[in-house]
Amino acid sequence: MNLHEYQGKELLSSFGVRIQRGIVAQNAGEAVDAAKKLTEETGTGWHVIKAQVHAGGRGKGGGVKLAKNLDEVKTIANQIIGMNLVTPQTSAEGKKVHQVLIAEDVYYPGDSEPEEYYMSVLLNRSTGRNMIMYSTEGGMDIETVAEETPHLIFTEEIDPAIGILPFQARKVAFNLGLSGTAFKEMTRFVTSLYTAYVKSDASLFEINPVLKTSDDKIMAVDSKVTLDDNALYRHKDLAELRDLREENPIEVEAKEVGLNYVDLDGNVGCMVNGAGLAMATMDLIKQAGGEPANFLDVGGTADAARVETAFRIILKDPNVKAILVNIFGGIVRCDRVAQGIVDAYKNMGDAINVPIIVRLQGTNADIAKELIDSSGLDVQSAIEFQEAADKVQAVVG
Ligand code: GDP
Ligand code: MN
Repeated sequence: MNLHEYQGKELLSSFGVRIQRGIVAQNAGEAVDAAKKLTEETGTGWHVIKAQVHAGGRGKGGGVKLAKNLDEVKTIANQIIGMNLVTPQTSAEGKKVHQVLIAEDVYYPGDSEPEEYYMSVLLNRSTGRNMIMYSTEGGMDIETVAEETPHLIFTEEIDPAIGILPFQARKVAFNLGLSGTAFKEMTRFVTSLYTAYVKSDASLFEINPVLKTSDDKIMAVDSKVTLDDNALYRHKDLAELRDLREENPIEVEAKEVGLNYVDLDGNVGCMVNGAGLAMATMDLIKQAGGEPANFLDVGGTADAARVETAFRIILKDPNVKAILVNIFGGIVRCDRVAQGIVDAYKNMGDAINVPIIVRLQGTNADIAKELIDSSGLDVQSAIEFQEAADKVQAVVG
């Protein structure tokens, strides 16, 4: 589960990480009130207006703008709220902006120039340790830095059983070229950032940029926070931060009915039992020259009601040109599943407007095939995996 920038910053702040202060606003009126309040608290008259959508690269797409007075706050908030923000990380249609973060301007002039760094905390799966990745090259696309100047990216691995040690935090500050107040600030920043990552069961924190202000404060100016869905039961307060408007509507609906569904770009809808078989099915479709439209694991019970729900979810995707049902009858008997498919099909009538290819293998596979073939419905059956993929390819071309 991903958080919005403003939610991520509040989470960081609750663990003592210094952040660029801000207030979220749903409309221009709230934006102006927020700016006034921030001016009272921080003294700044300048504010940045930042689109709150689950995508990075907002600055490049016109979703982050500086306002030098309240009139500009109002104008810019009106511009950004309601716009379809297109960034290098969104689709061509972009993402609709429902709210903006009004943040204090922290790039004010002073004794030194503000400097931007990059920092993320994540799991290194090959070593089984947490890792802090950081760079002096903040504010820009970290993928480009990794490609062109990989020596400017540092990593610090942390043993999860021990936690971050003081020398490690100092090493980060040192490698970023800091000294004096900024050095001390950075060691505190890194330590509290790491603690926040562990305590919130996150799987990714990405802070780009981390800013050194002209008066040597270190703070998070942006935040990308991904929480581990499997640990959300331990964080009821964080689970409530989910913003369903940011998620794929078909996936949200599938989740509500207990189906494990992931939307993809292709045109062959898949209905499979078991995640492993679902992956293998997608591979086979690709090998036969097709593209899967989704990943869908219907789980152990493939009765008529569940099959019907799965069909309805798959058919919500307008790209679907055929559906491949691939079920292995181990505990569940194939003839039961076949009957479920026939019943669901009859019940849905015209709602099914694409060919269906069914491959049932395992207990009573022969009876199942017979049941499908004699049903008189537009359903093709197969027992072998390859045969099913070829039949799918024949209908989608
Ligand atoms: P992203 O483009 O989605 O990664 O959004 P960021 O939150 O990283 O903001 C993009 C850019 O806006 C930053 O790299 C900064 O250069 C700029 N920015 C953010 N906050 C401020 C601010 O307080 N003042 C000024 N002048 N620029 C800011
Ligand atoms: Mn950023």
